[in-house]
Amino acid sequence: MTPGPAAARPEAGRGGDDRGAACPRCGAPSRRWALARDRTGGAPRAVRRCTGADCGVGFTWPPPGPAPAAPAGGPGGGALGWAAAAMARASIGPLLRRIGPGARVIDLGGGSGLRAAALVRLGHRPVVVEPDPAEAGRARIRLGPGVAVVGELGQAARGADAVLAWHVLEHVDDLDQTMAALRAVLRPGGWLVAAAPDPTSAEARAFRGRWHGWEPARHRWHLPAAALARLAAAAGLEVAEAGRRGGWGYPAGIAFSLAPGLDPQVRPERATAGRALCGACVPAALALRAAGGGGQAVLVARRPATGA
Ligand SMILES: [Zn+2]
Repeated sequence: MTPGPAAARPEAGRGGDDRGAACPRCGAPSRRWALARDRTGGAPRAVRRCTGADCGVGFTWPPPGPAPAAPAGGPGGGALGWAAAAMARASIGPLLRRIGPGARVIDLGGGSGLRAAALVRLGHRPVVVEPDPAEAGRARIRLGPGVAVVGELGQAARGADAVLAWHVLEHVDDLDQTMAALRAVLRPGGWLVAAAPDPTSAEARAFRGRWHGWEPARHRWHLPAAALARLAAAAGLEVAEAGRRGGWGYPAGIAFSLAPGLDPQVRPERATAGRALCGACVPAALALRAAGGGGQAVLVARRPATGA
C-alpha cells in the first residue's frame, strides 16, 4: 500500500491519534520529526515538521501549555558571571555589524538585561521587553533608571533602529503575528536579529530525540534557518543572512544533551557538575560554530528602507 500524506497516518507508538497534526501555522500536512525528550522529566513529546514548501516550521504536538520562564541562573561574579556576559556579547555580534552609533535597540525577551548592559557599554540605547516580572526586576536593578524595561512589545516606542529576538520565537503563540509586530516597531531600514535552536543543525542531528534544543515542554516551534528566512520574507522583511553562524555555540546544548541529569536549570543541586561539563564541552561547541554547525539558527533581516 502506498503511504498517504504523513499527517494522515497514525503516529507510530503514540496511540494512533494523529488528528490535528496539520501545521498550526499554514495548514499543510506534517511528518514526524522526533520524539523529543523532556528535560524536566516528563514524557517525551512528538515534534512534527510542516511539509509546506513556503513554511517548513517544526512544531511540538500537542502544543505545550504556558510554561514558566527558565530560571535566570543569576550570573554573579567570577567565571560564571564572565561567561554569561561573554555569551550576551556574542549574541549581539550579528546586530553590532549592522547598526550605527547610539542605536535604539529593542531586546525582546531581554531577561535580566545582560544583552542590554552590553549594548549600553557600547553607547547604544536599548529598551528591554521582558514579560516575566522577576526577570524584569533584575533587569531594572542591573540597568538602572536610564534604560526602559517594559512588559510587552506594544509598550516600546516604534521607530527602533533594531530589534533583537534572541531565543524568543520558539515560544510565541503566533509566529506571523509576532513577526508583523516586530516589523511594525522597526523604522524603515531597521534591522531584526533573531535566533532559535536549529533542529537541522549537526548538533541536533547527532543527538536526535535527546537534543537539548527541542525542549518540548516549553518550545512550541522548531525553526531551521530556512524557516526563519521564510517567516521574515512573509512578514515583508528583506533577509540579509540566515544560517548557523553568529552568536555563541552553546556548550550547554552539547553538555545537557549528553547528560540531562546535570542540567542546573532542572537540578540546581548538581549545578557545579553541570557547569564543569559545560566547560569541558566549550572546545566542541567552538569547533562546531566555526564549521557552521552550531546548534542555533541566526536570522538577520531588514525592514525595507522604502515603502510601507
Ligand atoms: Zn506550515
